[in-house]
Amino acid sequence: MSPERLREPLKAVLGARTAGGLKKLGLESVGDLVRHYPRRYGAPGEMTDIAALRLGEHVTVMAQVKSVQVRSMRSRGGAMLEAVVTDGASSLQLTFFAKRAGVLRMHEDKLRAGRTGLFTGTVGEYRGRRQLTHPDYVIVGVDAASEDEAVLEASRPIPIYPATASVPTWRIGRSVRTVLDPLTAEDLPDPVPASALEKRDLPGLREALQLVHVPDTDADWKRGRDRLRFEEAFVLQTALARRRAAHADLTATPRPAKANGLAAALDARLPFPLTEAQVHVGREIAADLERDRPMLRLLQGDVGAGKTVVALRAMAQVIDAGGQAALLAPTEVLAAQHARSLRELLGPLADGGMLTGADGATRIALLTGSLGSKARRQALGEAASGAAGIVVGTHALLSEGVQYADLGLVVVDEQHRFGVEQRDALRERGDRPPHTLVMTATPIPRTVAMTVFGDLETSVLGQRPAGRVDITTHLVPAENEAWLARAWQRVREEADKGHRVYVVCPRIDEDVDEPAETVEPDGDDSEELTLDIADAVATEEPKVPLASVTATVDELARRPELKGVRIGMMHGRLSADDKDAAMSAFASGQTPVLVSTTVIEVGVDVPEATMIVVLDAERFGISQLHQLRGRVGRSDLPSLCLLVTRAEDGTVARERLQALADTSDGFVLAEKDLELRREGDVLGAAQSGGRSSLRLLRAVRDAKVIEDARVAAAEVIDADPSLGDHPALASAVQDWLDPEREAFLERG
Ligand code: ADP
Ligand code: MG
Repeated sequence: MSPERLREPLKAVLGARTAGGLKKLGLESVGDLVRHYPRRYGAPGEMTDIAALRLGEHVTVMAQVKSVQVRSMRSRGGAMLEAVVTDGASSLQLTFFAKRAGVLRMHEDKLRAGRTGLFTGTVGEYRGRRQLTHPDYVIVGVDAASEDEAVLEASRPIPIYPATASVPTWRIGRSVRTVLDPLTAEDLPDPVPASALEKRDLPGLREALQLVHVPDTDADWKRGRDRLRFEEAFVLQTALARRRAAHADLTATPRPAKANGLAAALDARLPFPLTEAQVHVGREIAADLERDRPMLRLLQGDVGAGKTVVALRAMAQVIDAGGQAALLAPTEVLAAQHARSLRELLGPLADGGMLTGADGATRIALLTGSLGSKARRQALGEAASGAAGIVVGTHALLSEGVQYADLGLVVVDEQHRFGVEQRDALRERGDRPPHTLVMTATPIPRTVAMTVFGDLETSVLGQRPAGRVDITTHLVPAENEAWLARAWQRVREEADKGHRVYVVCPRIDEDVDEPAETVEPDGDDSEELTLDIADAVATEEPKVPLASVTATVDELARRPELKGVRIGMMHGRLSADDKDAAMSAFASGQTPVLVSTTVIEVGVDVPEATMIVVLDAERFGISQLHQLRGRVGRSDLPSLCLLVTRAEDGTVARERLQALADTSDGFVLAEKDLELRREGDVLGAAQSGGRSSLRLLRAVRDAKVIEDARVAAAEVIDADPSLGDHPALASAVQDWLDPEREAFLERG
């Protein structure tokens, strides 16, 4: 195997300038570039729908030149070239300016009427006509060496790459061809065994790359794409098969249920009857815990489904059997809140070792990165001695310094924030791996669950506790001052009724460039903007700054509608103490309005919260907004969610928000999300990004390929568990398991 050529830096092959542009797309080595697949293919006869282009959007348009004209501008001096291109129905103007007309002759010579080209630029408007100013462009067939070649090129599918404003798609295409040409099959070790390819009549890797990057026909790129898609599924399924095989060999301590221990006492004091779904899932988990194989179970349940109590009952069973449970939360805010709500559910059962403690009571230790040294020592002591049956915390629970007397169960809350690596680290503690329960509120269609969580059993809490009301969701156009005023008036009414209101902003400060999604320096609280709409909106910065927490706090303080209402503030840059204080003040009603970033996105549970206002809502993804909305409607009080947006009617961004207004079913939304992601792929709309590891594979669409790959992967792993005879596959699997990709895996 000689993958050295793949590791060669692009700088060495293509020069610093070209390599610099490609680096912005995350492409640094030859291997990166040949794996940067075209997003779609254009055919010269197939024009872009010009009428569908949106102002401000960075686009690549395939169109035919209708006319071209150079003229001098008497008023301003200098010269100007105007060309009009058309898709047959609508037209678009291309404008170039220069000091002297001579400079424009070069363009005039290329942009001849009747020729077809790809034009890249940002859609602007001048006197009511849409135009691209100084577009970068390439004319089909013109740069070819001979006429024959020009004819051939003019009939070939044209690869359209994920591109940026600074590196247009054809420059990427040229670079790909430059690095791909000299590569041989030996330079490109194929992770898919020849036998598997043969059986499916799929081409080898070298050929497949040729087919997708330099196709002669549509059939070519489809064949190449199918093979690369299979490869993705195959590598992923091999990784999962290997994990499953490794897991099957592990032994865990069985934690059988006890008839009259902590678990029974807990059930007896629950303030509500369990739902049928909670009872059912509870039985599944109880049975898992009794086995001598470590449980590895994913508990899916929409926000508010009541996952916490399910987890607590499992913890109680483990404690009854002499073990301890660790509960991992993604943020300190959530960890603290979990500790609070577990204590509340357990009541005197959580006061073990104290006078107030009930018989068989345990203790809950909260262990976060920001504890004072005394509190930390005490929590560590309780974990190590076993006095604390439950240890709650963030990643800090994973640090080497935390010892347990007998860790029997690990519960991970909100899976999408955790990497497999961290999950493994915990599982590998102690002599025997603990049982693991992973909870997620991100609805995952079955096929996705299989792709991404193929090594986990899954349980679903499909039913929400009775007595819950639906949340009414409305869109509020940001430019409509009257609606906004009414929205703040509603906030006041909720506050006056003794309810709570969240106001969510996409960033912390007005003047800081970084959006709020940057991970906090201590790596603890991550406020992630899942910009899955980056696909749908132009990548350029909007002209109006995004709503920030600090500016919004100031603005609300000035609004007449909110006069006298106390407003709190919450974001990841606050100290742990300040976060705690802000959360308590909000929960208690002292500050009934809380302006926050997405730190409150997951799990925060304040039953009195009846309203949430999301500013610049189009900046968030569907599933994230669904999570945010889940912060309200947590009691029998009617609740309201307002999505304030500048997205215009008819845009994909607006359609996403409308989908949220139309349904509160997380699974329906998850599917809608997937659908919109593909439909929104108007040529030009979505040309940046493409960093994800699943480049070609889509879990829902490619369910069949995934099943097929799963079978093929199992065959390989059965015969060669260590992959010793499959070095290329082993290294591809290793790539999957590197932390960045793991993180992606976890996100689905
Ligand atoms: P999530 O699944 O989003 O984590 P939680 O576990 O936080 O949801 O539960 C949401 C709220 O519902 C909590 O206040 C919890 O006490 C309450 N709850 C849980 N189960 C029931 C039930 N069976 N009946 C009524 N309320 C319940
Ligand atoms: Mg929760």
